[in-house]
Amino acid sequence: MKIIVCLCRVPDTATRIVIGASQTTIETQGVQYIINPFDEFALEEAIRLKEKIPGSTVMVLTVGKEDAQKDLKTALAKGADEAIIIKADGPLDSLAIARLLADTITAAGGADAVWCGKQSVEDDAAAVGPMLAAMLDIPCVTRLIGFEGDAAGFTATREVEGGRESAKGSFPCVFTADKGLNKPRQAGLKEIMAAGKKPLRTQAGSAQPGSNVLQMVLPADRAAGRIVGEGVAAVAPVVDLLRNEAKVI
Ligand SMILES: Cc1cc2nc3c(=O)[nH]c(=O)nc-3n(C[C@H](O)[C@H](O)[C@H](O)COP(=O)(O)OP(=O)(O)OC[C@H]3O[C@@H](n4cnc5c(N)ncnc54)[C@H](O)[C@@H]3O)c2cc1C
Repeated sequence: MKIIVCLCRVPDTATRIVIGASQTTIETQGVQYIINPFDEFALEEAIRLKEKIPGSTVMVLTVGKEDAQKDLKTALAKGADEAIIIKADGPLDSLAIARLLADTITAAGGADAVWCGKQSVEDDAAAVGPMLAAMLDIPCVTRLIGFEGDAAGFTATREVEGGRESAKGSFPCVFTADKGLNKPRQAGLKEIMAAGKKPLRTQAGSAQPGSNVLQMVLPADRAAGRIVGEGVAAVAPVVDLLRNEAKVI
């Protein structure tokens, strides 16, 4: 089985985001990048599927820059077999990213299972996975919290409002991973050393964005807090403020 994982890098959640001079992108200088947390679940599930089905391979793709090498090496150490950085110039939106990924997958002869995160915690579009499925003309099951698969097909579990839903299907398919799908493994020193010998290459790509960012704006500073009393004496004024000022009760 040919398994592909689409892995994006996002600013570490502890990073203080600064909007760049153009007001359409963030200032990347000094930003610490990590693997998108949802993509860690996608990668883990892809490796588990490979381990279950003999002869399977896992290829990891990222649209980004050379500095993605570090994170791709981590993916190789965890069990992926091959990694590609797709370098593209100019502004990229979800549509352009999905196009670059779809072109690379098609050029590689297609895939049986494509794994994405449910969304990037950077732009939160939750769009690339479903767009990719549409471009590859294969089904897509989103936001998985459970997955059982073998060569014959899969059963996927999703969280829906007030409960859970199970879907049965066959490959090829695009899956997007949610938190709780699995517990991502850590790579050991031996695997980290061996990952250096696995293929990791960079290729150029180009795709037109479907939309352009007009302006990015940081949220307004929060108003200063107010202390209205202490202990039991504070209950009545707090209730009064919640009812008559905030009007939330
Ligand atoms: C080189 C580059 C240039 C960019 N330029 C701009 C810009 O000018 N202005 C701007 O606002 N934003 C820019 N971006 C950010 C870009 O718009 C977002 O990274 C992109 O839209 C994906 O975020 P999303 O929220 O749409 O992804 P989602 O749809 O939320 O992501 C879902 C999943 O899709 C996959 N995925 C997403 N992005 C990638 C990726 N890059 N590689 C591999 N898999 C991926 C992952 O599995 C992810 O979990 C740029 C990004 C890159 C890499």
